[in-house]
Amino acid sequence: MDSGMVGKILKASQYATEPERIRFESFKVTFHGKHDSHTVTYDHGKWHCTCDFFRQRGVCSHTMALEKILGVMLSEGSTQETATEGVAVAP
Ligand SMILES: [Zn+2]
Repeated sequence: MDSGMVGKILKASQYATEPERIRFESFKVTFHGKHDSHTVTYDHGKWHCTCDFFRQRGVCSHTMALEKILGVMLSEGSTQETATEGVAVAP
């Protein structure tokens, strides 16, 4: 293997430990819930899910689970970061 490729592989390994370098702008996933599968989309901080709970509340277990998984890789101003800031400010 050439040295250029070795350098890239080492850099990739380093990057893989630094998820804060990555920001998801938008994506669409199929979420296999306990009873049904749902389509969850994310577009610049805005979530949407096809489940009934999300339709009523604007948030659901599927979007919350994805926030936990993706964490710092979501855009600034996502629900999770706002919630974290709220906790930090609370007395
Ligand atoms: Zn949902």
